[in-house]
Amino acid sequence: MSSETLSSTTDVKNLVHPYTNLGDHLNKGPMIIDRGEGIYIYDNHGKRYLEGMSGLWCTSLGFSEERLVNAAIAQFKKLPYYHLFNSRSNTPAIELSAKLLEIAPKNLSKILYANSGSEANDAAVKLVWFYHNAIGKPEKKKIISRLRGYHGVTVASGSLTGLPANHLHFDLPIDRILHTDCPSYYHGAESGESEEAFTQRLINNLEQLILKEGPETVGAFIAEPVMGAGGVIVPPEGYFEGVQKVLKKYDILFIVDEVICGFGRTGMMFGCDTFNLQPDIMSVAKALSSSYLPISATMISQAIYDKIAEQSDEVGVFAHGVTYSGHPICAAVALETIKIYQEDNIVAHVQEVAPHFQKRLHALASHPLVGESRGIGLIGAIELTQDKASKKPFDSSVKIEKRVQENVAKHGVLVRGIRNAIALCPPLIITIEQIDELFDSLEKGLDEVLEDIE
Ligand code: PLP
Repeated sequence: MSSETLSSTTDVKNLVHPYTNLGDHLNKGPMIIDRGEGIYIYDNHGKRYLEGMSGLWCTSLGFSEERLVNAAIAQFKKLPYYHLFNSRSNTPAIELSAKLLEIAPKNLSKILYANSGSEANDAAVKLVWFYHNAIGKPEKKKIISRLRGYHGVTVASGSLTGLPANHLHFDLPIDRILHTDCPSYYHGAESGESEEAFTQRLINNLEQLILKEGPETVGAFIAEPVMGAGGVIVPPEGYFEGVQKVLKKYDILFIVDEVICGFGRTGMMFGCDTFNLQPDIMSVAKALSSSYLPISATMISQAIYDKIAEQSDEVGVFAHGVTYSGHPICAAVALETIKIYQEDNIVAHVQEVAPHFQKRLHALASHPLVGESRGIGLIGAIELTQDKASKKPFDSSVKIEKRVQENVAKHGVLVRGIRNAIALCPPLIITIEQIDELFDSLEKGLDEVLEDIE
């Protein structure tokens, strides 16, 4: 048995793969990735792929940034672990916090670390609850999220997520988590409804939901600036402006989930900058360390912090935190990542190449299989349809997105099928030529699937 076959058999025998059809996996086995270089990865047969999804929307600096490797090694040698409990600290966590606050939206002033986006959002939920107890509003605990939103998989963050598969058979969502509309004009507009009218309807629906529940029971609203795993949904003009007015009116905290959008993805440092959002709480992960090591952060305003601090004084402790909160090696790598973003002016690079990315993306709208192309900065998606006029999706038995994904992979590019859409989110360091390589392969893959089903 070759060593490759052996690895594959051992994988199937021992691993539970996240987000995988586990039955299929038994028959098909894994695709084993062996190494990375720039924005490319190589499988264990030596085949090269352009990583059109940055792994899971995360490796912003590609797969071979030496500075991050060196930052990790240096910290490994100096202090491989220390925690932040009981007022202990470590220098990378201290320096990272100062750096993050230097670039973050101005009203955020304190940072709580964890390892994943799910934990960061889980912490956001707990902070909303703790805060409202602290200010004597123990009823104000419900959190409104959105259908198709993605905020993670833990019990609370998985409840915030607005995708059926994350709830079905997992007994989620928990109570006190509500879902309002997804701001997709393509999917949600009524016949003849203008984009403006659609947006206003969604804002009205949000207000109606708050009134129905009782504003005194609604503590927070959470949103990704651009929905990622829900199919890359870019909000329509005026959406967030209207939402923020409603939140202010009813004294509801705004949690912005920047786990995908943060650090340049939308063409500004944060989605908050692109869409003019004023968060009370903001979560970041993924590109915070270019995903070379796991680290996430929940950032909060001074006003929230002050009340939490007061309450913790009363209790005797702020009893939240994980063993690896502010892990020194992860923090050192994240700090170096942000330094690279600043020194290489990653935002300017995104602004330079994104128009070409968006031009190629929008050109696909005329493809017979494509109902809509949408995106901003270096994130985008195409919606596949059986019929452009009626927007009829393919029957799930056609597995259209999987077929496109697999055909594109044959041409050396990895993209991700999500429901009826194909998502793109390449490393931020991608060049104009590599953007062409990505779209040339995507077009070939689409043409082949079209031929196949005609
Ligand atoms: N929030 C958003 C917007 C995400 O896209 C994700 C993951 O894709 C998460 C939260 C959860 O992050 P993690 O998978 O690190 O728990």
